[in-house]
Amino acid sequence: MSKRQTIITVEPPQRIRKDVFGTAPVVCSYCNGQGGFPRQGASGSYMERCPDCDGTGEVFAVVTVDWQPYSDEGKAQLETVY
Ligand SMILES: [Zn+2]
Repeated sequence: MSKRQTIITVEPPQRIRKDVFGTAPVVCSYCNGQGGFPRQGASGSYMERCPDCDGTGEVFAVVTVDWQPYSDEGKAQLETVY
């Protein structure tokens, strides 16, 4: 099955800073793009809004690359995430 993929190449910028990327929107995997879930209540059926996509049926990711100096403090931080 074909699949769309987003690839971010991490390379240091000219100056150390944060790089922020947004992906293209994709179908919400929790509600399968329906935006909610059919429910049965006392007054009839209704759609319960999907908490992940807020009823839109799509989600996107914000990816932040936070460049840090390779100092003692930076190395200590690296050990906690690597
Ligand atoms: Zn959803």
